[in-house]
Amino acid sequence: MLTRFDVGTVITMNDAGDIFRPGTVVYDETGIQYVGPPEGCRHHADQTVAIPEGIALPGLLNGHNHAAMSLMRGMADDSALFEWLSQHVWPLESRLTANDIYIGTLLAAAEMIHSGTVGFADMYFAMDAAAQAVKEAGLRAWLARGLVGSQDPDGQKLEEGVAFCQAWEGQAEGRIHTMLGPHAPYTCPPEYLARVARAAQDEGVGIHIHLSESQGEVDQIIASYGKSPIQLAYDTGIFASRTLIAHGVFISQEDLPWLKGLQGGVIACPVSNAKLGNGIMPYHLLADAGVAVGLGTDGAASTNSLDMFLEMKMMAWVQKLRGQRPDAFRARDALWAATRGTAAVLGHNGGLLAPGRPSDLIVLDGGQAHVTPEWDVLANVVYSATGADVRYVVVAGRMILQEGVITTFDEQAVLKLARERQANLAKR
Ligand SMILES: [Zn+2]
Repeated sequence: MLTRFDVGTVITMNDAGDIFRPGTVVYDETGIQYVGPPEGCRHHADQTVAIPEGIALPGLLNGHNHAAMSLMRGMADDSALFEWLSQHVWPLESRLTANDIYIGTLLAAAEMIHSGTVGFADMYFAMDAAAQAVKEAGLRAWLARGLVGSQDPDGQKLEEGVAFCQAWEGQAEGRIHTMLGPHAPYTCPPEYLARVARAAQDEGVGIHIHLSESQGEVDQIIASYGKSPIQLAYDTGIFASRTLIAHGVFISQEDLPWLKGLQGGVIACPVSNAKLGNGIMPYHLLADAGVAVGLGTDGAASTNSLDMFLEMKMMAWVQKLRGQRPDAFRARDALWAATRGTAAVLGHNGGLLAPGRPSDLIVLDGGQAHVTPEWDVLANVVYSATGADVRYVVVAGRMILQEGVITTFDEQAVLKLARERQANLAKR
């Protein structure tokens, strides 16, 4: 079925930076059929949605998440990292059921859909339940079973991770992709990372791993192994497969040789890095070296919000701070990271509006006070808009948010279940 959106502005994020005003997008389940000025469109659509003040843009791609951790949003906030993990997060995680993961992932999906995210990369456990939630929500996802090598002496969890890839790759009409998820070099010894690297090669899947997130991690890995987390990952063979490096805050000039020719890239999580007091990732060092940089939120337990509009603002702010100049990172760079950048890290052909690309788009309400007037639409979208302005979300040609209402599942029922699960988890 051909659907046509006639909107005030279309931001394509194509290489030429085309913006059409007014603009038209026509798509079906197979892909985008037309993007351009309304008068140039020769397609006869089955349905037309006209939003004169709407701003259409590619759906945002959240490159790093632990979706089910939404159930822990705001838990023991502002405590020191190790205390937070050892006294709060880990004990609670040991009690989470597959049903909790399912509800937590649907809760995250509701928040992501409302704030314009069309796809996300996730690392957690009980991933069959997470994948089922993704399937029902209508999102895209790149899912990995998180692996803690120090808790996996016989490799059973790695086998589970591989079995998950075999069961779910390409499922949900091709919306679900799978990866292997070794948590980090401080939880996975080098021999374990090497086993994961071989398994990824055998399965032909990518790897999702936290690397160089904190100064403490870098110091510990250098003290233990005499090399940086990036070099350690390289030496264990991780980078032989497409690798999604989450955080990368402490990647240095000396790490660049190990990243040369890397398939994949680094996902910046600026809100998480600020809230945990870690630091600012070296965007220009990586971008100048040709490393793809995308954007992600991290889990809502550390970030509190899965709103990629907040993440875009924070990325721009911290990179301006790091560069000590306002043009060090611009609105367009932020939107690029949240669309094309994450797509490049994942090896996904979306992240832009162009014929033949996936039918993934969002439409914001551009008629509100906080985005009026319009001197520069990119500035309005990145610096003034919030996720709450998103009115329509289309994924794979299916309208999963329509006039601000989720069409794929009963959102209120999920919120009720999430409150009940939280009350239950808080009791013990
Ligand atoms: Zn994370």
